Amino acid sequence: MAGALVDTHCHLDYPPLSDDVAAVLQRAAAAGVQQCVTIGTSLERSRANIILAQRFPQQLRAAIGIHPNDCAETTAADLATLEQWAAQPGVVAIGEVGLDQYRQTVPLEKQQAVLQGCLAIARRCHLPVLLHCRQAHAPLLEALRHIAGAWQGIIHCASGPAEFIQEALALGLHISFAGNVTFPNAKALHALVPLVPDERLLLETDAPFLAPQPVRGQQNEPAFVTHTAAWVANLRGATVEHVARVTTRNACALLRLPAVMPGA
Ligand SMILES: [Zn+2]
Ligand SMILES: [Zn+2]
Repeated sequence: MAGALVDTHCHLDYPPLSDDVAAVLQRAAAAGVQQCVTIGTSLERSRANIILAQRFPQQLRAAIGIHPNDCAETTAADLATLEQWAAQPGVVAIGEVGLDQYRQTVPLEKQQAVLQGCLAIARRCHLPVLLHCRQAHAPLLEALRHIAGAWQGIIHCASGPAEFIQEALALGLHISFAGNVTFPNAKALHALVPLVPDERLLLETDAPFLAPQPVRGQQNEPAFVTHTAAWVANLRGATVEHVARVTTRNACALLRLPAVMPGA
């Protein structure tokens, strides 16, 4: 085993993972994945994830947010509710929020308005923000620059031109790589991995989506973050033990997770 790992981004409220979260977390622990963060994509799903985090306080924390593809009907009252829930035990971040011009289910202006609301909540609540960005790199940077000061948070499922990653790092953000970094033809993604300094590097599954290469086509789950760790280590010319150590340290500090047992 490579050392303790953290899955900083999974969706355990989605089936089939939601059918037996205890078993999913057991398999994660057996693979060395000691902590997971389960991520809300709507108000309803955020509540479900808070309940899950409170059920499994040893191993699970929650993030609450409204995904850009799910924000068509979001109201100011919804954002007020989200802000109230930010104080619930087990909530460690606001997310996922962001911009998505790939699916185009919601007009960009609406996505931007909801994102600004969520960024303001993250600031007021002193919580890191978990950012989803798909084919919307320039407008996302613009939204972040709109609120002055450095950002605490994560670009999840990293993608985009190198300049985007460099700008995000300059704004203070961490960069998290998901299972798609293990796809052999994802050359542009591979090129991003060495750009991120050890201090800002994180790993995730985005389960049940995006299963990494050796298990591609299967349902993804937090235990499989081990495959992503191995690929990221390879792309950085580092050992998997080193990548496990730095990413786990970063995740625990940024997301205020319980201390993990090193080498467990
Ligand atoms: Zn996402
Ligand atoms: Zn996600």
